[in-house]
Amino acid sequence: MTENFSNDERQRQIQERVARIREEIAGEAVRCGRKPEDITLMAVTKTVDPIYVNTAIGCGVRVLGENRVQEYLSKRDDYRLDGCSVHMIGHLQSNKVKFIVDKVDCIQSVDSVKLLSEIDKESAKAGKKMKILCEVNIGREESKSGLDPDAVVDFVEQAAGFSHIQVSGLMAIPPICDKISDLEDYFDRMYNLFLDISTKKIDNVSMDLLSMGMSGDYLPAIRHGSNMVRLGTAIFGRRNY
Ligand SMILES: *Cc1c(COP(=O)(O)O)cnc(C)c1O
Repeated sequence: MTENFSNDERQRQIQERVARIREEIAGEAVRCGRKPEDITLMAVTKTVDPIYVNTAIGCGVRVLGENRVQEYLSKRDDYRLDGCSVHMIGHLQSNKVKFIVDKVDCIQSVDSVKLLSEIDKESAKAGKKMKILCEVNIGREESKSGLDPDAVVDFVEQAAGFSHIQVSGLMAIPPICDKISDLEDYFDRMYNLFLDISTKKIDNVSMDLLSMGMSGDYLPAIRHGSNMVRLGTAIFGRRNY
């Protein structure tokens, strides 16, 4: 069990995993005619002690993904964030926006107008323009947050109207699939949606990030156009809740 290893051993494991993941990402990128450096590796930090998050940063990871406001605030002072950006990726209640608005660079989990207005209001107060991604419930699962795929274009157009928000792309967590072809189908739909919106050239909208792919599916996600993969388990090992 991971927790019985010494700190040094665990840090060495993280270094090895990041190196291997990098090679896999680069290999997949090249196989599909893309540049390895166009794909960003995010380290998802939930439940992970700051010492190990710093190990990943030490390996050159430059984007962290945070799920919970409280956990982030309690760990943030121990992170070595120089040169890193932090993205909120977990479901965010609008009354919590004020606690993180000056402490994150992007909010990936935006799926309601209420959240948009709160982010806009708090970003205005903080004197910044917040990057956001629209979260898409690509499998239309009742248990998941995110926008209905058919509602995304309208939502992006609405979001574009807020002066302290910069729409920067889309995020999704596809359903768990038995067949890889079903999974790839969901990634494909996301990619098409992403291209669709890019083509519309909406003012104040830059489709820079297509955030999809986690520990179990980041290679197929890259094959289908992802340019940011969000990895927790693959970097840090299994989580202890
Ligand atoms: C936990 C989490 C991840 C990472 O999951 P792993 O399977 O551990 O890589 C990615 N995205 C979101 C939104 C998460 O909550």
